[in-house]
Amino acid sequence: MGDEKPRIGFILGRIGSMVESSRDKRATALAELRSAEEGDPFRILIGTVLSHRTRDESTSKATERLFSVYDTPQKLADADPKSVRELIRVVGFYNMKTRNVIRVAKQIVTEFGGEVPDDLESLLTLHAVGRKTANCVLVYAFNKPAIPVDTHVHRIANRLGLVKTKTPEETELELMKTVPKKYWLELNELFVRFGQTTCKPVGPRCDICTLTAGCGYYRDVVLPKTK
Ligand code: SF4
Repeated sequence: MGDEKPRIGFILGRIGSMVESSRDKRATALAELRSAEEGDPFRILIGTVLSHRTRDESTSKATERLFSVYDTPQKLADADPKSVRELIRVVGFYNMKTRNVIRVAKQIVTEFGGEVPDDLESLLTLHAVGRKTANCVLVYAFNKPAIPVDTHVHRIANRLGLVKTKTPEETELELMKTVPKKYWLELNELFVRFGQTTCKPVGPRCDICTLTAGCGYYRDVVLPKTK
């Protein structure tokens, strides 16, 4: 593991260049939310809950619609569930997410004085908030170093051989051990965009990837099929 530190810097540099030169210039839904809402922690938290198993375009539409009516924790805590359901209908699992966002808003009002907490332990006490969501809030709302691991980060870290893990939780713990903190803030955004544009879940674009030389998945899975 002695060469891990220079390796991750090199990998992130290459990934950064690839996503920049990609024709798809969209930022991720959370990065968009961060710039549109100037990092408002409440909106980033609710946006992350809505983004679960949902395409970025749908998350962006739902958050825009929801926050045009319910723009504070208090308003959302008092919201009529039917109205919230209609506003977020574009995202997957909207019935469950309607219950979740209202319950989270109520908790923020009653347990945290209307302010989203900025530490992992408190965030994890919120309903329907797991490590990925809590870490997204730390990174995208509070600019605090954390490594949110979603399916893109988990898949790409394993393909590149940065980790050898079965679950996103294990991946987070391994990456925290091997990736220097200075890279944590940028890692999620870069990996997610790379996963959307190049290292896709099915049919990764290894033909245009500049990381083939060090990629275990390319060496063990993709290359043998071409022979
Ligand atoms: S070589 Fe292929 S599998 Fe490996 S990181 Fe690049 S796109 Fe992903």
